[in-house]
Amino acid sequence: MKLATQNLTKYFGEFKALNEVSIEVKSCITLIIGPNGSGKSTLINTVTGFLRADGGKVFFEDKEITNLPPHEIFKNGIVRTFQTSQPLLKLTVLENLLIAEANYGESIIQSFKRSWLMKEEMLVKRAFSILEFLGIEHMWNERAMNLSGGQLRLVEIGRALMCQTKLIIMDEPIAGVAPDLSHAILKKIKELSGMGISFLIVEHRLDIVLEYIDWVYVMAEGRIIAEGRGKEILENPQVVEVYLGAQG
Ligand code: ADP
Ligand code: MG
Repeated sequence: MKLATQNLTKYFGEFKALNEVSIEVKSCITLIIGPNGSGKSTLINTVTGFLRADGGKVFFEDKEITNLPPHEIFKNGIVRTFQTSQPLLKLTVLENLLIAEANYGESIIQSFKRSWLMKEEMLVKRAFSILEFLGIEHMWNERAMNLSGGQLRLVEIGRALMCQTKLIIMDEPIAGVAPDLSHAILKKIKELSGMGISFLIVEHRLDIVLEYIDWVYVMAEGRIIAEGRGKEILENPQVVEVYLGAQG
């Protein structure tokens, strides 16, 4: 098992946003679904150290990582992707990947072991091989602001791949992305999963995402209310109820 939470609990003031959440993420693609406000983003922000847990534990590869600062959790091989921010939009696609490594990469000591030039060359090579894998190498010199939403998601995955990542956590990776490109992104995620990288994904668009995932957890009001393998989960009466209730 890669990641596990045990009774993870988070309050915002009096409000219990996470209520004893226990999940397991194995070496595969795990999905979290649930109506708006059910606590999905809070869960991944708490797991990655951006929010402080008020109770419960988080383990990664059997090591406890509860409430470690984000950069410590990152060093353990967990990368949470972020939407490309305004300053990053001004940079080229290649620069976006190189900067990921500069931000989180090897320690300064390690960098000094080799010459800077060699390191630079290696990083550029690595960035290009990642862009090639993702199918966007022809855009390497394009400013990120000129990319489509779907292409930007690929750049975000590219940034995560520049680091020594074992688990990639993504919040709504195909929100606002056209169906064709959404499938292309999920196929890349599936391929990476086959190469040993685990994924924890929060996503609304079940029609597109369910065929790619290995396990799904359903959240409602800060709790896990159901879990299962892909499409079967939609036949679970409790799951149907929270989704219909949320629409009403
Ligand atoms: P989801 O991602 O499932 O839509 P969130 O995890 O974003 O849900 O939010 C869960 C609940 O916690 C919501 O009721 C939301 O209003 C509340 N919440 C989220 N972040 C904060 C915050 N920083 N401060 C106060 N309440 C918050
Ligand atoms: Mg959310």
